[in-house]
Amino acid sequence: MLKILNDYIHNVEDLKAKDRLKIPAQEMPAQDPNIRAHNLEEVAIGYTMEEARVEALRCLECVKQTCIDGCPVKIDIPGFIKHIAYGEFQNAVDVIKDASLLPSICGRVCPQETQCQENCKVGLALKDVDKSVAIGRLERFVADWEREQGTVKIPHVKPETGKKGCCSWQRSCRTCGCRRCKKRRTLSYYF
Ligand code: SF4
Repeated sequence: MLKILNDYIHNVEDLKAKDRLKIPAQEMPAQDPNIRAHNLEEVAIGYTMEEARVEALRCLECVKQTCIDGCPVKIDIPGFIKHIAYGEFQNAVDVIKDASLLPSICGRVCPQETQCQENCKVGLALKDVDKSVAIGRLERFVADWEREQGTVKIPHVKPETGKKGCCSWQRSCRTCGCRRCKKRRTLSYYF
């Protein structure tokens, strides 16, 4: 995997789609079953920096970005993935946070296989949604990276508008609430 990164990282701009499609999908490392049977930690451990960058190199940077069509909050997916490929992790987080304030959660619990990753051209080309670019895992990776750096920033919010909004407890409502919060609406939640 390190060899793949070293082979490709110096000529990213020259990589053709056929080169990117040959890069193997990176599996998410997980705890050994014998160890995880004795703890309550997450089973999935998360990508290393190298794994994340190799996975990011698989993105075709499509002109018609069908992955974004499948994202309920319209994250600039190829935009943040490209930053990961170059090791610009803070820039990647910043791109995600333009649209979503919860990347660590969404990277873990969103059903990507029926949203962004279902529409990913890599998965479609390889005829296997499990071979799509691992958008959720990459989102989780950069969110965890930011937290580990201690550089989590409070997002900029506009001044109070006095307008009101409400949210019901349904899919995406927390992100919806965050967006309204950024626009300085006073929110009521209904469960
Ligand atoms: S559809 Fe897949 S390959 Fe194309 S830009 Fe989106 S994540 Fe990258």
